[in-house]
Amino acid sequence: MFKHGQLENLPRELDKCMLCGKCMLVCPRGVNTRAVVQNMRILLGSTSYERRVSHAVGK
Ligand code: SF4
Repeated sequence: MFKHGQLENLPRELDKCMLCGKCMLVCPRGVNTRAVVQNMRILLGSTSYERRVSHAVGK
């Protein structure tokens, strides 16, 4: 499913998603892509925004 190098870019790609849900409208399998993105962010720990804030405040 993932090609070489794609996992390294995964957090950045996930952060691009605005959770607008438009991809759900065109998915032929009815995948709840918003939930997938949200859960992948949770599994990866946090968004890059949250990591930047944590780093800035020293946590
Ligand atoms: S919800 Fe889907 S269409 Fe909307 S930004 Fe995220 S990946 Fe793109």
